[in-house]
This record gives sequence, C-alpha cells and structure tokens, in this order.
Amino acid sequence: MQAWVIGNWKQNPATMSEVNALLETLLATVTDDSDRTSCQLMVAPSCVHLATVGQRLQNTPILCAAQDISAHSDSTGAYTGDCSAQQVADAGASWTIVGHSERRQYHQESHDALMYKLKHAFTQNLGVIFCVGETQEQYDNKQTLEVLNDQLAVVKDLLDKASHLAKTIADNLIIAYEPVWAIGTGKVPTVDEVSTTHDYIKTTLAGFSEALTQTRVLYGGSVNADNAESFAASPVIDGALVGGASLKAESFLAIADAF
Ligand code: PGA
Repeated sequence: MQAWVIGNWKQNPATMSEVNALLETLLATVTDDSDRTSCQLMVAPSCVHLATVGQRLQNTPILCAAQDISAHSDSTGAYTGDCSAQQVADAGASWTIVGHSERRQYHQESHDALMYKLKHAFTQNLGVIFCVGETQEQYDNKQTLEVLNDQLAVVKDLLDKASHLAKTIADNLIIAYEPVWAIGTGKVPTVDEVSTTHDYIKTTLAGFSEALTQTRVLYGGSVNADNAESFAASPVIDGALVGGASLKAESFLAIADAF
C-alpha cells in the first residue's frame, strides 16, 4: 500500500512569508526530482493560511488538508470562529484532520462532536485523518486498546447512523495513531508496540465493516528523519503524521524518503 506522509503544521509558521518559503521549498524539491518519493504527501496549514496554500497546491503532487472543521454545520451558519467542511473544501483542502489530541484536550471535543465532524467532512467529500491515541497515564495503566476502542467507536456510530456514507467513509478515511505522550516530546513507543496497536486498529475497523479492511493507519508522535526508517519497516505502519519535523522541508522530505 502506498505510504502517506502528512505534515501537521499546527499553529505554525507565524507569518505568510514563512508559509510561502516552506511551501516553495517543498514544491521545488518534489517537482525537480519527481522520483524523490513514492509517498503521497500532504500538508495541513492553519485555517488562516489554508486558502493560499490550497490554491498553490492545486495540480501539484502535494495535497492540502485542514486541521479541523466545524461540528455544527457542514456548510454555513451562525457559528462564530468555526470553518465548515464546505468552506475548507472551497479553500482548496481535500482532506481534514479530525480529533487531534490537542483539539480533544484544549477544546473538549466530545464523542458526538467528533462524529458530526466526520459526517460533515464525508458529506462534503473531504477525506478525514482521524486521530486516536492514549495519554501517558492510560499507557502506564495498560489501557491503550480500551481507549482506542472507545475513540474508534465514533466511526462505528457514524456507520450505524449514516449507512449511505459507508462507501465514502471506506474510500476516504485514514486513522492516525498518535500516543499523546509521544507528541512533541521526543519519546516514542517501540516499533513493535506501534505495530501491535495498528493491528488492533485494523482488526477493529474490519469488525465494523468489511469495506474498512484497507484503511490506512499512520503513526504520529515525534517522528523525525532519524527514526522514520524504523517505523517505515513495519508492514502495518502505512505512513506518518508529522508535527514539528514537518516545519522544515528537509526533515519532512527525509521522513517521506524513509517510507
Ligand atoms: P510531533 O506532532 O511530530 O511534533 O510529535 C505530531 C502531531 O501532533 O501530529
């Protein structure tokens, strides 16, 4: 299966000129050397940079994703501060991240809110990178699989409620397994641990629907140019969601080279 390597820029870079510099370096490297990577590349800029990045990436090998969408409406409405699935798609995103642990933690995203975000994204033909993962405490208490089971139930509930979306979901869903304790910390689980967890995620999804057996599962959390190769060696790690290391074109592309 083709690996996908996705850069989650979070609330970075600070200025539009830095965004442009990063984007142009990425594009120049990828277009000058089209054999450079066999991965599908994607970047997720902040919403304020989304339209510029989305337009620039049209007809290039790099896809553009939003970092989040509104849970309240898939189109328009009185939801101050929100951006809808329709709006981010119009701005040039073909994917969106949903349920990143920083959104869950700082914005108290609930099970239902996440389910609506998924539903709105699929209704507007956006692909979804749905993030799941346990906290340090849950990891220490060996609750990882239990936590993932609860978090993945969002997908199951959506399938139960919106069976007409089943094919769209199967074609446009990526799971990113990101242990919260590994994000931005430099600490990573072993490749064996990640592989066991990915196996569990894949089995769980297959149990929801046979159509989900081919769902990509990416690993995220302190992936860098030095450790990417070890993750890439596992047949059940289908790519990476990269935060810090995606802010430098060189390290982001080195990660892609490894996959
Ligand atoms: P990190 O972030 O690579 O900086 O750990 C990953 C993420 O939060 O998606």
